[in-house]
Amino acid sequence: MSHQGRHFLQIPGPSPVPDRVLRAMDMPVIDHRSAEFAELGKAVLQGCQTVFQTKNPVIIFPGSGTGAWEACIVNTLSPGDRVLMVETGHFATLWRQMAARWGIEVDFIPGDWRHGVDPAALGAKLKADAAHAIKAVMVVHNETSTGVTSDIAGVRKAIDAEQHPALLLVDTISSLGSIDFRHDEWGVDVTVSCSQKGFMLPPGLGFNAISDKALAASKTNTMPRSYWDWAEMLKPNANGFFPYTPATNLLYGLREAIAMLLEEGLPQVFARHKRLAAATRAAVEHWGLEILCQEPDGHSPILTAVLMPEGHDADAFRKIVLENYNMSLGAGLSKVAGKVFRIGHLGECNELTLLGALTGVEMGLGKAGVPHRAGGVGAAMNYLEGRTDSNAPTHLKVVGV
Ligand code: PLP
Repeated sequence: MSHQGRHFLQIPGPSPVPDRVLRAMDMPVIDHRSAEFAELGKAVLQGCQTVFQTKNPVIIFPGSGTGAWEACIVNTLSPGDRVLMVETGHFATLWRQMAARWGIEVDFIPGDWRHGVDPAALGAKLKADAAHAIKAVMVVHNETSTGVTSDIAGVRKAIDAEQHPALLLVDTISSLGSIDFRHDEWGVDVTVSCSQKGFMLPPGLGFNAISDKALAASKTNTMPRSYWDWAEMLKPNANGFFPYTPATNLLYGLREAIAMLLEEGLPQVFARHKRLAAATRAAVEHWGLEILCQEPDGHSPILTAVLMPEGHDADAFRKIVLENYNMSLGAGLSKVAGKVFRIGHLGECNELTLLGALTGVEMGLGKAGVPHRAGGVGAAMNYLEGRTDSNAPTHLKVVGV
């Protein structure tokens, strides 16, 4: 079926790329050993420090988030090391599998895919580890498969309360640049991220922000590595260069995306995401559908995962929405495949984009014969215009904005 108008890419990443970023990338490729390139390299490396909220180096790899996960593991851990991870959903499970393939022994705290990390449960595990055999705590900040955000400052507090020396390694692949994240203040040792979500870029870049403690660990750990070796990157990065051919045009886009985030202001960017997410929840609750997240303070600002009523297939519904309204919604992954669809509301997204997306969902529910109460889009509008019912559940209120 051919469609007019733009495609609505409402998946939780890759997120739509703003025209400004597309235009910034529309440049001839330059010599990556030139002085002109060094200016670009320095600008993006410094700009990333602002977005990651760190004074330490941020490494930019050509690669995806999965590559950045691997870089984090091979630079900090050694075969046979023990780590603590939490089963928040599909992505935490994949990161665990990768760690296991690298010979890491993972203590995986089980989860129901509807809650975030419980800092108290982590604290109890660390308390029991008097010999400090656990070398790292590895958690996902925003679990993109479930729409649950975890409290990383709380995880840091739990580690400190036990005076445990474990490294704190955090996946911010779908949170960075959309949800407040403070690498230095929260004492994170490695922050892993990528280009195609909050940075509003095409896929193709992976990031590691690293603390002094992580850097020290990288000098003594015994994991073999080559492409992902931080030491190889840090040397030329000091002068704005890369040890191998960088993704030059994505870096032009990154420079522009950072400018956009800083022009709006990071606190404003974070507040916008919370507001749009709360409006989405107002619509979903009005429809009478269930939100997967059951953590009262953990509703993700970047996506909302919605459970389909019994007897209705989420993928069949998504197909109807795509074919009729030219909108892509996120699929349920692995354990929740077919049971959940995900509405992305991140990056280049504003009130009207969101209301258009919610309209597509509501029309799709009707077309697919999914039982629901009409008027969810109106509920979202009410929320956005400050007409929220004062008796609304607390998670519909915007906290801290
Ligand atoms: N971690 C999280 C939380 C993600 O959302 C994703 C992808 O969506 C990944 C890891 C994997 O990243 P990539 O697909 O860029 O390799």
